Amino acid sequence: MNTNLNISLASQYKSKSQAIRIMTEYWVTNEIFCPNCGDIIYKYVNNKPVGDFYCQNCLEDFELKSKKELLGKKIVNGSYKTMIERLRSNDNPNFFFLVYTLPYYQIKHFMVIPKHFFIPKLIEKRPPLSKIAKRAGWIGCNILLQNIPESGKIYYIKNGQVENKKSILKNWHKTLFLRDAHNIELKGWTLDIMRCIDILGKKEFTLKEIYLFEQILAKKYPYNKHIKDKIRQQLQFLRDKNYIEFISPGVYRLL
Ligand SMILES: [Zn+2]
Repeated sequence: MNTNLNISLASQYKSKSQAIRIMTEYWVTNEIFCPNCGDIIYKYVNNKPVGDFYCQNCLEDFELKSKKELLGKKIVNGSYKTMIERLRSNDNPNFFFLVYTLPYYQIKHFMVIPKHFFIPKLIEKRPPLSKIAKRAGWIGCNILLQNIPESGKIYYIKNGQVENKKSILKNWHKTLFLRDAHNIELKGWTLDIMRCIDILGKKEFTLKEIYLFEQILAKKYPYNKHIKDKIRQQLQFLRDKNYIEFISPGVYRLL
């Protein structure tokens, strides 16, 4: 995999953001395979509302966002209203996220965030544009990258290192069960417990350790009076979906 953007493509564009767009789209088309089936992906003709790229084989859609230097905590996205509507009707695309470094336009990170990781709680409303702006009153949104579980950030390139194709496909398939979740609140719980496991930062963990998040979760779900029950229910669910395994009473391991 070539990890450099092709700078020569930029010369004919005056606008910097347009040049970046052209270089990154060209790179994705040439280097990136579909994380679902491994096939090549294609670019949509301009301004297709469903995304920037698609896979002809399995019909997954992808939208590309890119950023300079750092991953950061948020990804700036388009209209808040559109994003929330798309999440509710389940027609949002998967996200490709590319981070490049200057001055050589090298790719530092490239990841895909599967669409089933997005819930309204991960979308932050930006303040409306001021009255003097061209689109006064328009409200954009940010994707809260830091609140997405690690299993929802599937790297192709991490810190300049290319990951192998087999593990990318495997990581993608590991969380596909989240697509079956029709209830957004329930999915929110699953993602929260996945985040708690991430924060513990180890492969093996105990129920007691997850219980340490009880108060934080209680603040997030003020109407739920049975947080511990919910934690156990979610761990059971993640076990049934082969995301974690049960080792001995109260002890689990990430798969
Ligand atoms: Zn595919």
